[in-house]
Amino acid sequence: MSPKRVESAPPLKKVIENYPDAFLFCRTIGHRWAASTAHVREGGRIERVLACDQCEARRTQVIDSNGFIVGSSYAYAKHFAINGMGRLNASSRAELRLAGVRRVL
Ligand SMILES: [Zn+2]
Repeated sequence: MSPKRVESAPPLKKVIENYPDAFLFCRTIGHRWAASTAHVREGGRIERVLACDQCEARRTQVIDSNGFIVGSSYAYAKHFAINGMGRLNASSRAELRLAGVRRVL
């Protein structure tokens, strides 16, 4: 059986060069979440949307009547995901972190 050809991702170094500061900082420091909207769903659960004021990511939480989070989902700005790389490993995250630090040195 021949190995399936996988679309190769651009090298991380190249991706980082064109990666916006906001994405780089959110990925390596964390998002800056602020409550954006909330509304009561049918059945009494509350849906709260948090928005990152830095990269425009959105986090939707479903909260039950006791305050427990029973559902959560995320939506990211276009190009936030580093296409073709899947979940980043520790080395890739370290490379991103170093790039983020260098941008503010
Ligand atoms: Zn963010």
